[in-house]
Amino acid sequence: MSQTRIMLDEKDIPTHWYNVVADMPNPPLPPLGPDGNPVGPEKMLEIFPGNILEQEMSAERWIPIPEEVREIFKLWRPTPLMRAHRLEKVLGTPAKIFYKYEGVSPSGSHKTNTSVPQAYYNKQAGFSRVTTETGAGQWGSAVSFAGQMFGIEVRIYMVKISYEQKPYRRSMMQTWGGNVFPSPTNMTQAGRDALAQDPNNMGSLGLAISEAVEEAASRADTNYTLGSVLNHVLLHQTVIGLEAKKQLAMVGEYPDMVFAPCGGGSNFGGIAFPFLADKAAGKKVRLVGVEPISCPSMTKGIYAYDYGDSSGYTPLMKMYTLGHNFMPPGIHAGGLRYHGESPLVSQLYHEKLIEAVAVPQLATFAAGIQFARAEGIIPAPESCHGIRAVIDEALRCKETGEPKTLLFCLSGHGHFDMFSYDRYLSGQLEDYDYPQELVAEATKDLPKVDWPKAA
Ligand SMILES: *Cc1c(COP(=O)(O)O)cnc(C)c1O
Repeated sequence: MSQTRIMLDEKDIPTHWYNVVADMPNPPLPPLGPDGNPVGPEKMLEIFPGNILEQEMSAERWIPIPEEVREIFKLWRPTPLMRAHRLEKVLGTPAKIFYKYEGVSPSGSHKTNTSVPQAYYNKQAGFSRVTTETGAGQWGSAVSFAGQMFGIEVRIYMVKISYEQKPYRRSMMQTWGGNVFPSPTNMTQAGRDALAQDPNNMGSLGLAISEAVEEAASRADTNYTLGSVLNHVLLHQTVIGLEAKKQLAMVGEYPDMVFAPCGGGSNFGGIAFPFLADKAAGKKVRLVGVEPISCPSMTKGIYAYDYGDSSGYTPLMKMYTLGHNFMPPGIHAGGLRYHGESPLVSQLYHEKLIEAVAVPQLATFAAGIQFARAEGIIPAPESCHGIRAVIDEALRCKETGEPKTLLFCLSGHGHFDMFSYDRYLSGQLEDYDYPQELVAEATKDLPKVDWPKAA
């Protein structure tokens, strides 16, 4: 059997992030204000430090990773690239399956790849406090860890339903010194409004974002951090794809297809964008984002300008969206329960440079369990989406006899998600296909702006 674990050395941690904007056929569309005009940096500087905004708007192909950040990355990077020999055998497929395992980070997912640089840049710019929201708890944990590394106070608005269902994620954040509040809270206007309407409001990611942004905008010492969607976040995640490319080359491989679960698009962008650079240079590789059919931003949503949060505090971004009033159905992959999709991923999807598929919840857990039984690692429910799509492709290869090389991002482990596994194993989960009528309904409230402006 050929190699199983393909490892790099500390010195191979990338020295630069790859910025896909440099290789996009069209420049990214600007964020807009409600009046339809591009939002200037002044507005964004209320909640982000200048050094991060610079990255957000950069078109430079390579952006250096600060040495202090690489130093912290050494705690878990480079991450292993694994050949899934046992899964291939169980499936009886001629395909070769590789996965990049990001669950070895302190918080258990890829999210520390961006929380660490974000904490670093805030510290550099003289800020002592950051706010954020968390749904499943993955992002809140990653920011708490990063805040601790740089001595920054972290304040987390955690969607109330997750706060109650995932007490150990909360303890994890608190262990690293994070302050966690169940959202909606009565500490912000957005929270008070939501509670006035419904005292039993169990929260949503969009609402928690409103609370975190409101607090950051109202205090000079405080900024906001976001774990997905924005350009700089996807930029930071490219360490995944850059390492994977090197590791595949070490065993003489190049992927025919790359898969990743897609919530706001950060681990997908992270693993896929470095391959998009090759595609721009003429190489053949297919890049596939995998979303739940219960929250199908790309496969059923509309490509339009929309708010990033439910109260309309954020600038408008052109993205695939289910509408900012999207109320998440009860799906057990909290990290994929967001109404929008990264503007970069959305634009590349719109221009047909990447693909998207949607998979149902039950088949997704079945794939995760098949993977765990073959390879040992228990994947996060989000990651199971990527696994479902890879297994489906490997089974197609079995039909056609094609020995394709498949790569996917195993974005995190599921050790804090056993509640969801438990629900699946005891037959309490259901499939939910988000109805097209609801998309039409929710997108009626979309702001009526576009770019370039209609003449
Ligand atoms: C947050 C999360 C995701 C989804 O977010 P993206 O920005 O789309 O990557 C996927 N997997 C895990 C393990 C996560 O924590």
